Amino acid sequence: MLSNMDFINKELEDVRKRCVDDIPGSEIVACHPAAVRIRIVRTKYKRLEVCMQFQNKYPDEPIIIEIKSKTVPDKLKEGLTKICDEQAKTLLGKPQILHIAKFVQQFLADNPFSVCSEEVSFIKRELITEKDEIKMKQKSGVIVITIRETEYFMKFRLKVPDLYPEQQIVIENVENNFPDLFHKMFLAQTEEMARRCVQPPLRKKPKDPPFEPAPSLKKVASYLIDCLRNYPGSICPVCRERAFTPNPEHTVKDDTHGRYVVWVYCGHLFHKGCLDEFFKTPPFTGGKKCPSCQKRIYHDKWNITPKVAEDRWAHQEARRRELDEVVDFLQ
Ligand SMILES: [Zn+2]
Ligand SMILES: [Zn+2]
Repeated sequence: MLSNMDFINKELEDVRKRCVDDIPGSEIVACHPAAVRIRIVRTKYKRLEVCMQFQNKYPDEPIIIEIKSKTVPDKLKEGLTKICDEQAKTLLGKPQILHIAKFVQQFLADNPFSVCSEEVSFIKRELITEKDEIKMKQKSGVIVITIRETEYFMKFRLKVPDLYPEQQIVIENVENNFPDLFHKMFLAQTEEMARRCVQPPLRKKPKDPPFEPAPSLKKVASYLIDCLRNYPGSICPVCRERAFTPNPEHTVKDDTHGRYVVWVYCGHLFHKGCLDEFFKTPPFTGGKKCPSCQKRIYHDKWNITPKVAEDRWAHQEARRRELDEVVDFLQ
C-alpha cells in the first residue's frame, strides 16, 4: 500500500491536466496509482513511452522509470533511463512525473543522433583511426570527419536531419587535397547512395517488396571513407606505380598529360598514358580487360574499329550498362 495516496492522487490529477500542454508531442496512455505511461512522439522514428511506478515511500523515494521504444536503439534507452533515474533522485519530496517526462522530451529534441546512435558508434569504432578526426555537434546533428591517408586528406560533414532515416544524410565537403575529379566523384556517388536509401527506384521490379526508407548514415560513411582510404595508394595496373602523385600539390591537372589519373569503369585508376598504351597493345580479342580485375574496360579513343558506327553504338550501350552495374554495385 502506498503511504502517501493524497500526494499521489494530487500529482496524477496535475499530470492529466498539464501533460499534453506542457510537453510537446506527449499523450497519456495510463495515469493511475499502479502505473503512469506517457507516450512522447517527436517524429515517426523518435517515439517512446516513459513508464513510471511509485515506490512505497514516494515522493521520498525516486519514481521507478522504464523507457520503451521500438525505434530508439537499446543502448540509448538504457543510457537515457540511467540519466532519468539520476534526475528522479534530485526530486525527492516533490512531484516527479511531469519533470521526468519533460526531460525525456527535451532529450529527444536536443539529440538528433538518438535515432542513429548505433550507426555513430560503428563509425567511431570501425572506420576512424588514430590519425583521423571525428567531431560530433550534438545540437545541430552534424558529424565532422577528417580522414587522412598517406599525404591526402578530406574533411567532410554528415548532417543527420530531424526526420532521419526517412530523410537522407546530407554530405558536404569542407576541404580536401584530392584531385578535383575524385572528390567530386566521391561526393556524387555518396549522394546518390544516400538518395537511394530514401527514394523508391524509378523502375520497380514486380517481385520487389514495398519500398521502405533505409538508414543511410553507416552506408554513406563506409563507402566514402573506403574511397578515401583506397584511392591515394592505388596502383596503376599497367606500370604498377602509384596512380596519385606522392605530393598532392603535384597532381596533374591537364587531362591530355600522360600522368593524368583516369578512373576506369571497373573502379581502377590508370595513368592516362599507360591506359592509351594498353589499348594500343595486343591482344585485342574479346576486348581489353583490366589487368587488375579482368573486367572488360572501354576507352573512347581506342574503341574505333572498322565497323565504327555500329561499334560505337554498341560501345555506348555497353558503357551505359557498365555504368548501371557500377551504380548497382554501390547499393
Ligand atoms: Zn601507370
Ligand atoms: Zn579493374
